[in-house]
Amino acid sequence: MKTCLPQELLLKRRAEILHALCSSGSAEHLERVMDMLLAQGELGWEDCQNVLVPGRALYSNARQLLDLVYTKGADSCELFFSAVKQVLPEALGDALFLSGCHSTLDYTEKPQRTSTEELLSQRPDLVLKLQGCIDGALRALVESGHFSSTDCDGIQLPIYTPSQQARRLLDLVRSKGESASLAVLQFVQQSLESESSLEQTNPNLTNEFVKYQKKLKSSVSAQSRFLSTYGGTSHMPLDDIYTEVQMELPSNSSDNYKSMSFEEIIGPVGTVNDDADTVLASGEAGSGKSTWLQRLHLLWAQGKALQDFLLLFPFSCRRLNSEQRDLSVQELLFQHCCWPDRGQEEIFQFILDHPHLVLFTFDGLDELKQSFADEQRICCPSQRAPVHVLLFNLIQGSLMKGVRKVVTSRPEAVGPALKKHLHKEIHLKGFSPSGIDCFVRKHHSDPNEAAKVLESLQANTALLGLCHSPVLCWIVSQCHKELLGCGEGSLQTITDVYLMILQHFFQHHSTVKSPIGVNWLQENLGTVLHLGQLAFEGISNSSYIFSVTDMETCGVTESDICMGFLIQSKDMSLANSKCYEFLHITLQCFLAALFAILSRNSGCSAISKLFELQEMKKKRLRGTCFGACLNSTNTPNIAEEHSTMAETPNLQITATFVSGLLSQRYQKLLFQCSSSVLVERKTKHAEKCLSKGMQQHFRSIPQPVQGEKKSMHAMPEFVWLIKCIYEMQNSRLAKDAMSKLEAEHLKLTYCNIGPVECTALAYVLQHLKNPVGIQLDNNSVGDVGVEQLLPCMHICSSLYLRNNNITDEGIRKLIDKVIHLQNFQKIALFNNRLTDACTKHFSYLLKTRQNFLSLRLGNNNITAKGAKQLAEGLKFNHSLQYLGLWGNKIGDEGAEALANALQNSESIVWLSLVGNGVGSAGACAISNIIKNSTSLEDLWLTENCITRTGVESLTQALKHNHHVKSVWLKNNDLTSAEIEEMEQIESRLVF
Ligand code: ADP
Repeated sequence: MKTCLPQELLLKRRAEILHALCSSGSAEHLERVMDMLLAQGELGWEDCQNVLVPGRALYSNARQLLDLVYTKGADSCELFFSAVKQVLPEALGDALFLSGCHSTLDYTEKPQRTSTEELLSQRPDLVLKLQGCIDGALRALVESGHFSSTDCDGIQLPIYTPSQQARRLLDLVRSKGESASLAVLQFVQQSLESESSLEQTNPNLTNEFVKYQKKLKSSVSAQSRFLSTYGGTSHMPLDDIYTEVQMELPSNSSDNYKSMSFEEIIGPVGTVNDDADTVLASGEAGSGKSTWLQRLHLLWAQGKALQDFLLLFPFSCRRLNSEQRDLSVQELLFQHCCWPDRGQEEIFQFILDHPHLVLFTFDGLDELKQSFADEQRICCPSQRAPVHVLLFNLIQGSLMKGVRKVVTSRPEAVGPALKKHLHKEIHLKGFSPSGIDCFVRKHHSDPNEAAKVLESLQANTALLGLCHSPVLCWIVSQCHKELLGCGEGSLQTITDVYLMILQHFFQHHSTVKSPIGVNWLQENLGTVLHLGQLAFEGISNSSYIFSVTDMETCGVTESDICMGFLIQSKDMSLANSKCYEFLHITLQCFLAALFAILSRNSGCSAISKLFELQEMKKKRLRGTCFGACLNSTNTPNIAEEHSTMAETPNLQITATFVSGLLSQRYQKLLFQCSSSVLVERKTKHAEKCLSKGMQQHFRSIPQPVQGEKKSMHAMPEFVWLIKCIYEMQNSRLAKDAMSKLEAEHLKLTYCNIGPVECTALAYVLQHLKNPVGIQLDNNSVGDVGVEQLLPCMHICSSLYLRNNNITDEGIRKLIDKVIHLQNFQKIALFNNRLTDACTKHFSYLLKTRQNFLSLRLGNNNITAKGAKQLAEGLKFNHSLQYLGLWGNKIGDEGAEALANALQNSESIVWLSLVGNGVGSAGACAISNIIKNSTSLEDLWLTENCITRTGVESLTQALKHNHHVKSVWLKNNDLTSAEIEEMEQIESRLVF
């Protein structure tokens, strides 16, 4: 057999070698070969720079290397072949044999090397070892003072793969000198030792598994390190900006609004179904769901949370939408998250055998084109199925039972079919007031700037209310310059805020000075329409990721992309094809709204479709397409092909923006960009839709049951319609609508009402003709929301705010307002965050208002001190009928003070001191009320520590009182014999 000279062979097989090195599209093979040649001293640093030219095509880089090796001579070529053989053992077949190439790469340690030399000679091995623990290595280098955080950021840019990050780290370490090199070598040594101890404690973990785990961690870490909203302009590390969000665990109201660790969230607290594996985190668009999940990913990858899970597989439903193939679970995991270089079967078997050590996360279930259904069951992990079917089976547990899943979604997408498969549900409630403060300070590195932004937020509570939503808080912080230049109170609606960010992005990129008379929107109209059409079509058919073809169809150009509204999608499975998504879904809705208004091709029917009520829409849209209401020449690709129902929440957000943009205030701006006749026509049409929607809602109010007030239980659309009217800032419309409402009681419980919704409610409800009861129990009103409600308090007869995260400060503002409003007669504040500090305000209210009827403060933190303060007010009050203090801590001392104040009351009908640590001394004092009061009917003393003495005193008092119907004494300190005896004596005592 004829042997070839290595140089000759290199020429002969050039095309084949190039193909082997480059055909995967990844630079990894080439870079590994280079690592080996560097380590052998065959290439120098300068050679490397000449070969790996950033931005140059991969094939060109590889050709450069081949040329270089060729010119260096036969030995170089021989070493090159050996390196290729190691990196791609199968690639060149018998080529090496033909060459007679025997050269092997020599990595044996040579004595008396410096650490820097060692770093070079061990390079290929170090890259392999470091790629799974970049975070740890960087931390070690920062701690030892060799690296700055800027150094780390440069290495961790998401454009680099884990092995590229490792190479960059080694290169930077080399430039920092001997001691940095030593630090890295020591780190690698230590991590090897801890790895082998991990293997000892987990004997099941094979080498391949540990390698895969490292690779997965590295890739999860790379994906989650930076926040994408900052993508267009700069990279913001999540660690630097992440701010805790408020959480609510519906099944465990006592812990609401505390932030919970990820361990707690996955753990047993608040479990509703032990058999289910899926934890759902729900929240409105922009409430921070994706960021929260991203934080979970990052902390896991950094080894700081959820370390009981050895593997974590993150999925984005938005991205899964683009998977057209049927896949098995194994393919889904490995192709969409992280590919095991070796041992795929073995790793997957481990997952099947140890489901409790594995975590799957699915972000944005609401963005999946198909709604959750649990009809089609598959149980076999090797069975292929459409991705949404796999996903639903994973969530419901028929596939991969025992693997914990964390899913995020907007609440609208969570129906009963999904609920029954949930282990637990948490609600994300955006930033608390201190969270807003913290976020703004993190966002602005200059403390003076942060202080100015916070000051302007405090001066505009409508805007402050908006900032509870993290995405709006981000926008406001991002546009701080515009915000500070705006003057107080001028930013009120969500549309105002989004217009501000639009303007901000355009100005950021503007190089030319616009001619006089041209407004910023007109100047950028081309971009707005291109992006608007893309956004609109996406909203119409639930598409959130756009291919280059989609963009071309809508005329989106490179310069439109440069404006920063679109970011490149990080879809792992689409490594080679570029795709884009909007910075945030709400920004897509906003641009879609602009398009619906400004496009001369879209008429009023697009507006109608946006405003149709959900139920009607469901009926009409079955099988039809929202996009068809656009002129078909304008939207060639959406007319027929999508049969999925456009997603209602996004249509509603878009309609809200349409209302805002069609406000009188923006007419001038819009007239310059479209036909004024058309804009006016659209405005009238939107007004008509809104007023029709409200009327439809009012017509559905049932007649009252006899003896009860006529009550309207608001449907979710009601809140949305009200928000649209507010965005429009159209008080005539609000007035007209309210003149048709006849209910005396508005029930808006569990309607996701936060400060923003309160602003809109007050704006509309203030026009009511007659006083109403406003029931807002179980929402997230908070102190800022309370403040927003003040403008409508004059028409409020009773306010129910149970479970709404309200503190003493909110109460102070409320009482300040209602103290002189004669209609306001009842308040219920069960389960908020009230303390003794609020009682002086109630005391003042009781003293001042002699027609106030009901005060319920159950389940707060009121002690004897607060009860004494309340008593001060009660002494002077002659109207209060209901006083509820269930579940506070007033004790005997508090009970005595209240009894003292109420003992001659002619108004009190119902008094509850349940669960307040009241003993017999308190009961004896309360006996005086029974003795003297002419009005008391029900007395609740359940769950206290009253003994026989107390009950005897109550019994004695009852002898002189015939108004009292019952005294409730369940769960006090009495024996069953005592209970039996007392029951004999007084039948109104209930034990
Ligand atoms: P959702 O998934 O609920 O629509 P996102 O998580 O996408 O909301 O949040 C929108 C934007 O708000 C983020 O891109 C980020 O700028 C900001 N944000 C959200 N949550 C946080 C947080 N916890 N800390 C800091 N910024 C946040």
